[in-house]
Amino acid sequence: MVSGMKKIANFGDVRQTGFCVHCDGPTETKDHAPPKVFLDEPYPLTRPTVPSCGECNNGFSNDEEYVAAFVECVVQGTTDPDLLRRVNVAKALRRNSALRGRIERSRREAETLGGGRILTWTPEEERVSRVSLKLARCHAAYELNEPQLEEPDHLLVVPLVSLPADQREHFETPPETGVWPEVGSRAMRRLIEEDPGYAGGWCTVQEGRYRYMAVGAGSVMVRGVISEYLAYEIIWGIV
Ligand SMILES: [Zn+2]
Repeated sequence: MVSGMKKIANFGDVRQTGFCVHCDGPTETKDHAPPKVFLDEPYPLTRPTVPSCGECNNGFSNDEEYVAAFVECVVQGTTDPDLLRRVNVAKALRRNSALRGRIERSRREAETLGGGRILTWTPEEERVSRVSLKLARCHAAYELNEPQLEEPDHLLVVPLVSLPADQREHFETPPETGVWPEVGSRAMRRLIEEDPGYAGGWCTVQEGRYRYMAVGAGSVMVRGVISEYLAYEIIWGIV
């Protein structure tokens, strides 16, 4: 299914768009959020883009490929490219046997009390955090017109299924901020324009592959979900 968000122009404060959203550097390139490695073909016609320097735009590629591959391997329960569903990831693991080996080594099989077997996978947390933070910085800049160059005050990455029901509900529900987004920001325009990719506070870039939510009201919070498996929540300026 071809899904996609409407491309919405930014009518916000242009002073917020004149630098790399990751490092305050030059705006040499456009960084796409999310990168294609998190999506399947046919790709959505539009993806959010933010100004980025060349170094930041390219500097995350290996980590992004790792996270996409790790998530797909966990979801399918294997690192065997022939058994994976996501074509991009299967290709990446065929090409990059070192990556496959790394993910394979993070897999443990354990016996349950009932005599069954379970698989556990241990992600490289630093890489997962780096990728989540990069995505969140893009969404804060794109949706809210509030680039966040500082380190966040809160960063949480968990498998969505690991959240107990009440926390899951909390995660899925946009917080009541009572404050309207900046006039002209994309978040503001989503409130007044119809967008098939936007519902219940979430922007769905591709169904089942990537969605995110960005809320700004004093503090800035971004939540995202990769392949309906890996969930992150990042907050700047907790009051
Ligand atoms: Zn940069």
